[in-house]
Amino acid sequence: MIQKIGDIVLIQLSELDSNIYLIGNTVIDSGTGFNFTRLYSLLKSLNLSFDSIQQVINTHCHFDHIGGNGYFLNAKIAIHSEDAKVLETADPELSMAGYFDGKLKPRKPDILLEDGQKLKIGKHQFQVIHTPGHTPGSICLFDPEKSILISGDTVFADGVGRTDIPGGDQEKLYFSIQKLIGLKPKVLLPGHGKPVLKDAYKVLQALEEERDSI
Ligand SMILES: [Zn+2]
Repeated sequence: MIQKIGDIVLIQLSELDSNIYLIGNTVIDSGTGFNFTRLYSLLKSLNLSFDSIQQVINTHCHFDHIGGNGYFLNAKIAIHSEDAKVLETADPELSMAGYFDGKLKPRKPDILLEDGQKLKIGKHQFQVIHTPGHTPGSICLFDPEKSILISGDTVFADGVGRTDIPGGDQEKLYFSIQKLIGLKPKVLLPGHGKPVLKDAYKVLQALEEERDSI
């Protein structure tokens, strides 16, 4: 399924795959890689191909977000430095490849991302926001001009990312969510499920309050 949010294309391949966001020739998260032919034809319908993608940005090191990286032969792979080692070693536990019954090839990332770094993607100027908690090197991307937050598995429209997994840390996750509330995002483009197209910060505030009431 394809959904257009302005010039950002959201691709959803299956329940297992992460959301894949396409902006110009950049892909944000690549899914499991299990649905190669489906992704091939969806890209074709957009007049794109695997080879035309120049950059893949991974919001974190989990298999359902990085498993498809290898299909983009011409793309540079970018990930936060604290999750980079998982790509390099293809650790089945930290990448959760074992959990998804998938196989990863070790791959040294081309670009290491850091908090505060600016990334020009298509017409957008994104800021890298380091949001540890779901994994140590989880990142979000924020476009302050359009108030768009791409949040990976840190937050979703209806919940927060799991922390009961290797590398997870609940305290850090909630600290990260507070950081995101401070950005006052209007649009939330999460790593799974539906996007939030207005007042996204209210969703984040509600998640924060839910936690306080536990
Ligand atoms: Zn994840």
